[in-house]
Amino acid sequence: QYIVAIETSCDETAVAIVKNERELVTNIVASQIESHKRFGGVVPEIASRHHIEQITLTLEEAFTEAGLTLEDMDAIAVTEGPGLVGALLIGVNAAKSLAFAKQKPLVGVHHIAGHIYANRLEKEFEFPLLALVVSGGHTELILMREHGSFEVIGETRDDAAGEAYDKVARTLKLPYPGGPYIDQLAAKGEESIDFPRAWLEKGSYDFSFSGLKSAVINRLHNAKQKGEELKPEDIAASFQASVIDVLSTKAYQAAQDYNVKQVIVAGGVAANKGLRAALQEKFKDAGAELLIPPLHLCTDNAAMIAAAGAVAFNQGHRAGWDLNANPGLDLENYGDRKLMSYK
Ligand code: ATP
Ligand code: MG
Ligand code: FE
Repeated sequence: QYIVAIETSCDETAVAIVKNERELVTNIVASQIESHKRFGGVVPEIASRHHIEQITLTLEEAFTEAGLTLEDMDAIAVTEGPGLVGALLIGVNAAKSLAFAKQKPLVGVHHIAGHIYANRLEKEFEFPLLALVVSGGHTELILMREHGSFEVIGETRDDAAGEAYDKVARTLKLPYPGGPYIDQLAAKGEESIDFPRAWLEKGSYDFSFSGLKSAVINRLHNAKQKGEELKPEDIAASFQASVIDVLSTKAYQAAQDYNVKQVIVAGGVAANKGLRAALQEKFKDAGAELLIPPLHLCTDNAAMIAAAGAVAFNQGHRAGWDLNANPGLDLENYGDRKLMSYK
């Protein structure tokens, strides 16, 4: 069984083909990062225009590389949300056109479900599992008791982890997206600055990163006023230590409380070397197995959408011709809603 998937929720135009739910056949990602860099962030208008230019080429490249055609596909999966509406629309309309032209089944996929399912291309899931989603727009702890079921037990109350990385990077005048640059700097620095950790109420699995971001900005500002030299690598190391401490401690606590079999890390920040190392150490003797995807499956790609889409397809989910981009698509009700309206 072959599923082709399209992902255009943000600034990568991506197409992938997955065989039998878990075998990655082709994974093409056309990144627009260079076009957005000089603006210091993703410009929605530019993103949409790039997706229009790239989508046909990316589809062709994926089929050519796989040595397969659209006829060989059993279904077409596409990210329907969340994301930038104009960007999502390009992918949704491309998927609908292909599905209509060849009368193939169409499956809508939640972008974050995709980030989680990226891990299933590496290892079979065992439930219950806990997913730590750390991306540009999300920071969540999600409990999965079975395929397609997502219970958000904790989430950020302000900034996402990736957003905090990118904002701190900007104050250090690093290029966009700043996460990878902070990661590199942090490895060379010392955790010499004691930045706050937002634990929130006792027992809460929620996160908050805006206070940390402000603390970094204030510290830099004070240093500048006093003419004090602060090393960017020490700022990066100290900031990263705070983020990692909170993420790994809360993930560990939730894994214990819910007695999960696996802990999955997902989203762009899962590429962070410091976070990967800290989680490996933390979960070394824990009862739960830790899964972290390879780097190319952490940031946005369509392989993850194919992986999540294949499961949804085999569970009987079908999108209608009324499938639309949904920039605020909710993860928790996504499984039920699809079964009710599209099965
Ligand atoms: P979402 O998935 O929530 O819709 P998104 O798709 O924009 O948001 P991703 O593509 O999953 O987010 O991840 C991008 C984010 O990951 C950016 O904020 C980027 O800085 C961050 N990131 C990438 N690599 C690293 C790294 N090595 N260390 C820290 N952050 C990183
Ligand atoms: Mg991205
Ligand atoms: Fe993403």
